[in-house]
Amino acid sequence: MNKRNLIDSTLETNRVYAQKLSNTTDVFFNMTLNTFEYSAQLLAPIMLRDDDDREVQLLEEANRLKYQTNTLNSIIIAAADGEILATSPHTLDLIGDTLNSEGGKQAFAEQKPLISKPYKGITGRYIIFISYPIFDEQKQYLGLVGGTIYLMEDNVLYELLGDHFYEDGSYVYVVDPDGRIIYHEDHDRIGDLADQNPVIQELINTNSGAQRVINTRGVDMLAGYSYVPTSGWGIVSQRPTDAALVANQKMITRMILNALPSLLLSILLIFLISRLIAMPLQKLAILTEDSTRNNQKDRLFRVKAWYYEAIQLKQALTYSLGFLHDKVDHMTHESQTDALTQLTNRRTMDKLLGTWIEEKRLFSLIVIDIDLFKRINDTYGHAVGDEVLKYLANMMEATASQSAVCCRYGGEEFVILLPEAGIKEALELAERFRKRISAQESPCGDVITISAGIASYPSDADNKVDLFNLADQRLYEAKRNGRNQCNAGPELIGPHEQ
Ligand code: GH3
Ligand code: MG
Ligand code: MG
Repeated sequence: MNKRNLIDSTLETNRVYAQKLSNTTDVFFNMTLNTFEYSAQLLAPIMLRDDDDREVQLLEEANRLKYQTNTLNSIIIAAADGEILATSPHTLDLIGDTLNSEGGKQAFAEQKPLISKPYKGITGRYIIFISYPIFDEQKQYLGLVGGTIYLMEDNVLYELLGDHFYEDGSYVYVVDPDGRIIYHEDHDRIGDLADQNPVIQELINTNSGAQRVINTRGVDMLAGYSYVPTSGWGIVSQRPTDAALVANQKMITRMILNALPSLLLSILLIFLISRLIAMPLQKLAILTEDSTRNNQKDRLFRVKAWYYEAIQLKQALTYSLGFLHDKVDHMTHESQTDALTQLTNRRTMDKLLGTWIEEKRLFSLIVIDIDLFKRINDTYGHAVGDEVLKYLANMMEATASQSAVCCRYGGEEFVILLPEAGIKEALELAERFRKRISAQESPCGDVITISAGIASYPSDADNKVDLFNLADQRLYEAKRNGRNQCNAGPELIGPHEQ
């Protein structure tokens, strides 16, 4: 926008400037013609005289015209036949010669006030000839008074058109009615025909205005132009577009430099703020990626959520993590527990045994089977049988030590694992349990009894299969020996009680 403004204002400035120059030039020509008109009236009676004073008076008038304003390069007074009667400066020494310059010939032919087209004089200089006809009272043509202006020399036109305020490539040039350059700061251009230039086209058509043009040297120019009515000339004032836009570029550079610190500060602030915003989200994201870890809830609690959305997210995450953990805990428990008795299930027991054997850990196991359980089921029904199983499980846990692991191994078969316990200790526990069971009524109303086989690792076997087989074998022996007894090997059989 600024660029367009600058271009518009430069165009307007040049238009006004060209207009002003055109007006001033017009004023100058009119003034000169007025002076000559007055002079012509003055000269008419002198020209008609035939005494010695005539020449002196003509010369005086010529000198007055030349030196009173000193705006013209030379003054000529000539008779109707072309004879030069007086000149100023007098050094011209042309008196008596015939005025036969292009301007002179045109003036004699037309017998009218005239500003000639520029023409090349004998010396090769461009000249314009301004003249006014002299008539007597009977309108008889007596001759002319005129003045020359050398276009390329020190004179009023040069002063008018030569000096310009800007020194940035701006310049003024003048064309004649045919589009030929008659004034240009580059003197080599004077005499060139520039009628192809769109601006000159406008001037040839006697128009004034302003437009952006590319000059003959390919320079982008902002030109104002104005037509001079008295002479038919055109004046162009133009400035390179680049020069006009320098201010704009300077302004943009300054704007960028001024804005740079605040811009950098803003970027830094944006960076810091976005980091602050992203931080809780990032932490929450990392926590969710790894959401099943145990201490996740504490870590989540420590995340500093400082704005509404993050707080919401943290709360939602805390809730869902809590839910997830509860669910996982529950499922873990379920997968490790027997549903009916809530004792450790067989799969978990197998795993535990595997680990202990791998760690070469001392332990004993007690395999327990309820005696004649089929009868309970047959007599009281399956549901009651289940109650008996639950009751037995509770008793087992109540009897065993904290470190013991009570498992439901099969339908009505149980295993107790006793870490760090030798065979004797295991037998003692088995006996304590057997006695306790056989000392009270079970939920079916009958007293039930159990039999148990006991084996120890690593003293009885060095692997799981053998160890179990041995315990099973001892259980089988206990059954065969009449049930309600514990068998931990040949020397270690629990008392058989009826
Ligand atoms: P013994 O062991 O003394 O030789 O005689 P038993 O009658 O107990 O024989 P066994 O151990 O072979 O019998 C197992 C019975 O346990 C078979 C089945 O009806 C019963 N049983 C197995 N699982 C369940 C269960 O989950 N619930 C109930 N109610 N009964 C079960
Ligand atoms: Mg059984
Ligand atoms: Mg049984």
